[in-house]
Amino acid sequence: MLRWLEEQKYSISTPEQLADKIDISGKELAQLQKVCSRFRMQITPYYLDLIDFDDPKDPLRKMAVPDIRELRFRKGELADPIGDTNEDLDNQPVKAITHRYEDRVLLYPTPECGGYCRYCFRRRLAGKEDFQLTKKQLDKALDYIEKHNEIHEVILTGGDPLMLIDEKVFAILDRLKAMEHVWTIRIHTRMPVWNPYRITDELAEGLKRFNPVWIVTHFNHPRELSDIAVEHIAKLVDNGIPVLNQGVLLKGVNDDIETQRELNWALVRARVKPYYMHHLDKAQGISHFRASIKRGMNILRELRGTIPGYCIPHFILDIPGGYGKIPMQYHYLNSNGNGGIIVETPFNELRKYEDGVDQKAGEARDLDEMKPLELYPEEIMEKIGGNGDS
Ligand SMILES: *Cc1c(COP(=O)(O)O)cnc(C)c1O
Repeated sequence: MLRWLEEQKYSISTPEQLADKIDISGKELAQLQKVCSRFRMQITPYYLDLIDFDDPKDPLRKMAVPDIRELRFRKGELADPIGDTNEDLDNQPVKAITHRYEDRVLLYPTPECGGYCRYCFRRRLAGKEDFQLTKKQLDKALDYIEKHNEIHEVILTGGDPLMLIDEKVFAILDRLKAMEHVWTIRIHTRMPVWNPYRITDELAEGLKRFNPVWIVTHFNHPRELSDIAVEHIAKLVDNGIPVLNQGVLLKGVNDDIETQRELNWALVRARVKPYYMHHLDKAQGISHFRASIKRGMNILRELRGTIPGYCIPHFILDIPGGYGKIPMQYHYLNSNGNGGIIVETPFNELRKYEDGVDQKAGEARDLDEMKPLELYPEEIMEKIGGNGDS
């Protein structure tokens, strides 16, 4: 049997199996049973080895081992936190497709994952039988893409599309490749984290045939970039497949500057471009992972200038309802309303700059006269309620 299939087969998926491997009390076992009856657990032997079970606060443990707090749903938390299924927006024309942006669609070929992240934003469907697609439903989803010429990119997501065997992955890609209006294919997968053995030579060489295929993976902590993970990612990159990373800002896992610096350096050293750092979505039972937007912005601000520019991901907020991703930018700009702006340098100094040709040198104003740069016309400011002081 292929190593990756063995890893899946011998995964820990019940509290009893976990209790066999590590020391847990009877109370902890009972709690695990409760959580697992609601949200699936699955930890590969490979990932289990990365966890330091001597440390109760081990960040990798937090991401993999269920916690009783997952059953504590908070007000404002939602089953579908980013509106994948918002009917008002008519985002889901057929089963297994979300079509929110005109030029690209999400396609969910399977709800299965290599492991189940404790902070998953699609936990309402991840690993659930009801979301399994039949061959007919998959064909219908592909027919939809075929009929819509405005779609230029198809993003395979899930679940984890690489839980499908090569044959099935390639069958989907074959159909997409035959559609002239589909220019790029993206595969969103956490297999390089849960089970790097999934990236076989056969897979990497097979994907190469469908170029341009972009892989977007999901590392959250530098220790997840083990030698084995790095070695398997290299198979993709050596076959000319670009790899990006999207992580999530997680309290107690990676919400500090040192961990983020190490993570993003480790990614770039593995030839993976940090793409997005997501703000935690408001999925049910994950509030113990929540770090604030302010914290995320401060991290980005500190990263700027202290690691190479291309090591820095965009910080992304996806508000409930399905309205799309919003990059959270640290405000570098302040203005005197006259083309004069103040910028904050990566070394925390405020400097003046005249936008355009400086006609009146020496007329720069005092710093305390400056106010936030107004980019929006007045009517927009009125619509959103003035200057945002409220
Ligand atoms: C995140 C997402 C995408 C991809 O967005 P990018 O910014 O291109 O990575 C596409 N469709 C939906 C519905 C999404 O949620």
